Amino acid sequence: MPPVASSQTLLVVGGGVSGMTAALEAAECGRQVILVERSPTLGGRTALLYRYFPKMCHPTCGLEINLRRLKGNRNVRVVTMAEVSAVTGRAGAYEATLRVRARYVNERCTACGDCARAVKARVANPYNYGLDQISAAYLPHSMAYPQRYVLDPSIIGTDDAQRAKAACKVGAIDLEMRDEEITLSVGAIVWATGWKPYDAARIQPYGYGEYPNVVTSVEFERLADPQGPTGGRLLRPSDGKEAKNFAFIQCAGSRDENHLRHCSRICCMASLKQTQYLREAYPDGSAKSTIYYIDIRAIDRLEDFYAMVRRDPNVAFIKSKVARIAAGDGGSLVLHGVDTEGYHRYATEHDLVVLAIGMEPESGAVALPADIVRDSSGFIEACTSGGQFAAGAAGSPLDVNRSVQSATAAALRAIQVVHKTASAQPAQEAR
Ligand SMILES: Cc1cc2nc3c(=O)[nH]c(=O)nc-3n(C[C@H](O)[C@H](O)[C@H](O)COP(=O)(O)OP(=O)(O)OC[C@H]3O[C@@H](n4cnc5c(N)ncnc54)[C@H](O)[C@@H]3O)c2cc1C
Ligand code: SF4
Ligand code: SF4
Repeated sequence: MPPVASSQTLLVVGGGVSGMTAALEAAECGRQVILVERSPTLGGRTALLYRYFPKMCHPTCGLEINLRRLKGNRNVRVVTMAEVSAVTGRAGAYEATLRVRARYVNERCTACGDCARAVKARVANPYNYGLDQISAAYLPHSMAYPQRYVLDPSIIGTDDAQRAKAACKVGAIDLEMRDEEITLSVGAIVWATGWKPYDAARIQPYGYGEYPNVVTSVEFERLADPQGPTGGRLLRPSDGKEAKNFAFIQCAGSRDENHLRHCSRICCMASLKQTQYLREAYPDGSAKSTIYYIDIRAIDRLEDFYAMVRRDPNVAFIKSKVARIAAGDGGSLVLHGVDTEGYHRYATEHDLVVLAIGMEPESGAVALPADIVRDSSGFIEACTSGGQFAAGAAGSPLDVNRSVQSATAAALRAIQVVHKTASAQPAQEAR
């Protein structure tokens, strides 16, 4: 195989807040960047939160700022629906192969939505964690970038695909599109592939999948969102009734030898934040929540947020690892365990149980290059060839603020790699 030519271009894999930050920081320093995202839109999992701590603002706000920076910068090329399938070479001179899936919608799309109305098939909505269904011709969410619809591959070759094509007045639907492979020469790579929620069904004593009113914290974000499956009403999946008495179970899957050994760091703050969603959903204060915890991990300025929730009379704290959940009357759930502060047993009834689910690396499922070193939980730690770096939650469970800091650091390291390659070149030519 011929040696890979050196390149000044940076490749960023993953278009969440970390990948967008790394790409923008490098591009605003004048570097050429290719930003590759597996899904049809940028934004990552932050875009699926209702609000984010500590300021309780909507994620659309931060996303909008980053999209404005992106649109105003010609140095970033965005490739969505693409994954890196192979990497060869060395620091300063890598060759990356991308596999790009067909969207079946081209750049003429005006996001008018006519194709979605014409198509009959419905698919599980990935942006609401499958809690509802959408048309098989869809825009991922209102802030999606690019603002371009996508056809679910399940309708290709069916009458629905023809209906979508006939409905499109601007000729944006291209049913002849095929998956393709692209080869890129890049000098450094930033892996910003993020995290995924631990599979709650594997925590058997909590009955996720068996009891409809046991949901995960990521699903709860969607239930609280007015753009989510229930229009922001906190309804029980079993019967559609309003829930009023909520339980939050901490360390669901984390800090457990049978599941994830690490502390996921975010889930204490996520549950504290979610108790405040109840304040908004029930302004009369009629909803109560109980947090079952081992210990609360909130550091630095987040400690103030914790103190604020502690003062909330509608939030109770029970220091205990819940042992199991059993079915109660009429869809309610009974939590069993021992309160370690009084050493008494409890059997407490709740309408809805939220599992503060652990975060594991999304890259665990990706065939990363052989020179990438991961820690014992699968997060990316280092790279022996010296030109690849982790950003954000690909490297460890981080909140948005720390993900942005980590992504900025990764961008700087990547720039240093291509800078060194560039300054080495004239000397080599003189020899
Ligand atoms: C319940 C819950 C609530 C939270 N609430 C808050 C909060 O209020 N405030 C806060 O600061 N933080 C919060 N967080 C944490 C926040 O979600 C993370 O900090 C943030 O998502 C990290 O961003 P990221 O870009 O590193 O990863 P992600 O958001 O996971 O983005 C990674 C991106 O990479 C893409 N990708 C993955 N693999 C590939 C691949 N092989 N090829 C190409 N693309 C790929 C993904 O599709 C995704 O778009 C919460 C977390 C949880 C679990
Ligand atoms: S593909 Fe055509 S019909 Fe569908 S949203 Fe885009 S412009 Fe509208
Ligand atoms: S952040 Fe809190 S809930 Fe999450 S694993 Fe750590 S201690 Fe448990």
